[in-house]
Amino acid sequence: MITIKNLTVEVEGKKILEDINLKIKNGEKAVLFGPNGCGKSTLFRVIMGMNSYNIVKGDILIDGKSILKKTINQRVDLGIGYIAQKGVSIKGVKLEDLMEQYEIEYDDVKKKIDSLGIEEFLDRDINYNLSGGETKRLELFTLSLLKNISTYLLDELDSGVDLENIDRISKYLKNTSKKKSLIITTHTGSILKEFKMDSAYVMLNGKIVCEGNPIEIWECIKSGGYEKCVNCDRRKK
Ligand code: ADP
Ligand code: MG
Repeated sequence: MITIKNLTVEVEGKKILEDINLKIKNGEKAVLFGPNGCGKSTLFRVIMGMNSYNIVKGDILIDGKSILKKTINQRVDLGIGYIAQKGVSIKGVKLEDLMEQYEIEYDDVKKKIDSLGIEEFLDRDINYNLSGGETKRLELFTLSLLKNISTYLLDELDSGVDLENIDRISKYLKNTSKKKSLIITTHTGSILKEFKMDSAYVMLNGKIVCEGNPIEIWECIKSGGYEKCVNCDRRKK
């Protein structure tokens, strides 16, 4: 279980996240909505321990233990996996070569490769000249090679992904993430059509202002934009 308690984060004196409280249970599928620049990606990067964010207040705990002093690698060892909004290209390295380092159950891996439709990307430089959607699919597969990952942070999972591939990703998640916790940020909401999520949170200006049923909240945002969230009755006081 991942617990975020009263988390306030600054960069260069500017407050980016304010008093975030979030509890994601084991196996929970949560979606985090919010307009551009509200702090969603920052939250993920802070959970991973990336960049030089100043944690002014609060804590992040995995199964009750603070991870704030842990390195990125230690956080991965504790079971947190992350797909960034924009994947990093690694010229000269092919996923196929990296895979040789892992103990691979061939049938299982083949199934995943087929279901994500990524066979043709394995012998190309990682994320090099791949579209946004192709990168997301390749990274989902890459994360699956780390067997201990129990919490997935998936940033803008459906951005730049066409409908056919949203379908693919949804099916893949349905089959592979039953016991995993997920936090997904989405701009388009399209992942919600095929993949049932348990909970939703809305972030505005670095604060979580609302939580509830993912479809209901998404309908609300679609009908009135985030403007509507600002004045909504459901908003947490
Ligand atoms: P979102 O993912 O919700 O679109 P981000 O988390 O990327 O939003 O950004 C939130 C705000 O924090 C933005 O105004 C962004 O410019 C700022 N920000 C994030 N990281 C840094 C950083 N390392 N240095 C300066 N500003 C940052
Ligand atoms: Mg972002």
